[in-house]
Amino acid sequence: MMKTKIYLYNTLSKKVEEFIPNEEGKVAMYTCGPTVYHYAHIGNLRSYIMEDVLEKYLRFAGYEVKRVMNITDVGHLSSDGDTGEDKMLAGAKREHKSVMDIAAYYTDAFMKDCEKLCIKKPDVIEPATNCIPEFIHMIEVLLEKGYAYIAGDNVYFDTSKLTRYYVLSAQKEEELQVGVREDVNEDTNKKNKTDFVLWFTKSKFDNQELKWDSPWGMGYPGWHIECSCISIKHLGEYMDIHCGGVDNIFPHHTNEIAQSEAYIGHKWCNYWFHVNHLNTKNGKMSKSKGEFLTVSLLEEKGYDPMVYRLFCLLSHYRKPLEFSYEALDNVASVYEKLIKRLKNLPEEGEVEMDAAAEYEEKFAEALGNDINTSSAITVLYDMLKADINDATKRYLTARFDEVLSLGLTKAFEQEKEDENLVSYVEQMIEERRQAKKEKNFARADEIREKLSEQGIVLKDTREGTLWSRK
Ligand code: AMP
Ligand code: ZN
Repeated sequence: MMKTKIYLYNTLSKKVEEFIPNEEGKVAMYTCGPTVYHYAHIGNLRSYIMEDVLEKYLRFAGYEVKRVMNITDVGHLSSDGDTGEDKMLAGAKREHKSVMDIAAYYTDAFMKDCEKLCIKKPDVIEPATNCIPEFIHMIEVLLEKGYAYIAGDNVYFDTSKLTRYYVLSAQKEEELQVGVREDVNEDTNKKNKTDFVLWFTKSKFDNQELKWDSPWGMGYPGWHIECSCISIKHLGEYMDIHCGGVDNIFPHHTNEIAQSEAYIGHKWCNYWFHVNHLNTKNGKMSKSKGEFLTVSLLEEKGYDPMVYRLFCLLSHYRKPLEFSYEALDNVASVYEKLIKRLKNLPEEGEVEMDAAAEYEEKFAEALGNDINTSSAITVLYDMLKADINDATKRYLTARFDEVLSLGLTKAFEQEKEDENLVSYVEQMIEERRQAKKEKNFARADEIREKLSEQGIVLKDTREGTLWSRK
């Protein structure tokens, strides 16, 4: 365990606080997973990248982390209130497929994006549709305890039963638009404006594809109950840190706290970590308006996904970040220079362990200051300039990359690959020279062709045979 203290901004206290988990040395961490009705846009992925850095940093600092993430494959309506159509159903209609096919396809696409961005898979990934009996049980308990009521055949959470509902945000009752969108009618079943649906049965969506039997009739769960239930199922009643994008603060996380604490009867999660939005110059990033920015689109345009990860890491997670191709181009050249520089670090000498420990501590301190990723990258550059040997620099680069995950060590592997290639090509050229000397022109041509297939072109000059990559 490192000595460094970790400070994080906690949305619950609205302050930067020292992070102290419930159980010494262990962290129970939950992340709101994607709604799998479409590809993730790079804004969604900004949240997952920064949460990944947080998780890896906690591990770097010596904590044992258990991280759980849900996959929302039912119940997230097109408005974060209880209005509009289920996003999954809208996705299925758009593509003329079943909801489960859509869920499987986009879950897979999300995992592939995460892999490209070096985002570690959480220890547990649980689709909401796996947990229907657990949701039903939690809702039954909430009804028994008097925190929920049935109206118009739906089950609602009664927010008036809580002494404080707005623990995360400073919402004003009158500012709350229940319908959120103007074209949606207010739900007259609700006793209080802030009440929300735990279980839908009699909804206006007759065509809801996925329905399950429940004590309240055939229906489906609300979105918020998924995260309360899945997190408690895997992490127990005491959670250390809950993550998501800032748009999740209200109503999603506010409602999660309401349900979970009403269910377990005590404080649930101590730290709330929220990542601010990635925006375009026209405002919030969206899947329906403007260019739909995905990792694959960036790749098609020639950007390495690592460049996007670095783009995110150069800004603080609590600040809004504006995306532009010009800004990404600048980061692409920064990344290229960094990799080139690392390629020039020969594998020589012994690691100086004292110097390494000193820089590891500096790196940990930078991140311990509310996950200041750009300061951590400055420590990387300072270290590369420092008067320490190359073996130590290589060692530290690899250590820092356990958290940054910018593919930095691939520079060392490429260098090794290059060395191997050079000796192979030189050996083949020598064999070809011998073959020609022995007038075995067939063998000489064969070697030329074989190298050509491998992307190597030979040029015979008076000084000998030169080679280059195609
Ligand atoms: P969703 O798939 O809509 O449930 O969102 C997945 C995650 O992305 C959630 O944590 C959201 O809070 C987050 N998110 C949504 N839009 C953005 C954005 N523009 N920038 C950063 N994170 C976002
Ligand atoms: Zn959630």
